Amino acid sequence: MAEALLAANSPDLRKDDLIVITGAGGFIGGALTRYFHEQGFTRIRAVDKKPLPQWFQRIPGVETLCLDLSKEENAIRAVEGAVEVYNLAADMGGMGFIERFRVECLRSILINTHLIEASYRAGVQRYFFSSSACVYNTTLQQDPNVRALKESDAYPAMAERGYGWEKLLSEMFCQEYWAERGLKTFIARFHNVYGPHGTWFGGREKAPAALCRKVIEAKDNGTYEIEIWGDGTQTRSFMYIDDCLYGIDRIMHCDELIATPINLGSSELVSINELVSLIEEIAGVKVRRRYKLEAPRGVAGRNSDNTFIKSVLGWEPCTPLREGLAKTYAWIESQYYDRKAGKRVVTDTL
Ligand code: NAD
Repeated sequence: MAEALLAANSPDLRKDDLIVITGAGGFIGGALTRYFHEQGFTRIRAVDKKPLPQWFQRIPGVETLCLDLSKEENAIRAVEGAVEVYNLAADMGGMGFIERFRVECLRSILINTHLIEASYRAGVQRYFFSSSACVYNTTLQQDPNVRALKESDAYPAMAERGYGWEKLLSEMFCQEYWAERGLKTFIARFHNVYGPHGTWFGGREKAPAALCRKVIEAKDNGTYEIEIWGDGTQTRSFMYIDDCLYGIDRIMHCDELIATPINLGSSELVSINELVSLIEEIAGVKVRRRYKLEAPRGVAGRNSDNTFIKSVLGWEPCTPLREGLAKTYAWIESQYYDRKAGKRVVTDTL
């Protein structure tokens, strides 16, 4: 098992080395920027194409650049002088987004190809790519009682159309930049990440945030009824953001994992109906469930097989869903009432 190396105790990384985080205006990139800042790294460059007022988190003392990384010259500018690059930029969202906007999802290939080439040319030491469980062969995910997906299940390939294929190809870029050019790349396949400071309305939000918001709304407007996409039997696992950040750091500093895709996800499988029941418990209400069967619902079931991550890192994402959801629900509730009171809240729209 690899020694528990993190950025903060890595012999290769000084506290004043430049760390670049792309997609830093979004959910995971924003949280990762805060994570490294809190660990005492003094030179962090946060990059996103969104204008600054729309960033989910802004951390004082962090350099910010608003750049569209699908353009080569911007990718070159973004990674100038970087020692480590964490690429979290992608045009993405929940099921509703990735099933409807496949072209946008596929076009993220431009970000990933320009950024890895620019990183290689800039002499970056380590490059992290945020892949997704959507790379897995969809034919293995047709039953809610799924067998958890292990890393080798991506091939033979039959990824999620659009988004999944783009991620799979970008993984291959990472593998070949290591094989042919010696750039140390790291590839984590995230399984649904949730937590405070994520999108919770507007069209890109994912199931946990969307369902928390719906329950809050139903409670507030007195209807006590919510709409659920699909029949609620589809299963997923959900990883709390703090686990995701710790996992990214561990993976990035583990040489055994160079150019080796690895699952980063919780293995606590729940159906969407069970997820709703947990949210009801947290909210202290019961709601009527109206099923919208024709809505996007994704694969029937998906879970993360964590055998590999446990064997390499001696760790797996472990925040219980109930605990992470309670924090997420509380954050969305406060955002909801702020917004209702006319205060500005940061979110994303299609
Ligand atoms: P997010 O949408 O909150 O953040 C992505 C950010 O990338 C956004 O702020 C967006 O403005 C930015 N971006 C998009 N196009 C850009 C461009 N051309 N140039 C610069 N910035 C651009 O998403 P997230 O949930 O934080 O996801 C981060 C990464 O993790 C993505 O690569 C995503 O595919 C991957 N991922 C996330 C999840 C999840 O559950 N959140 C699951 C699997 C994989």
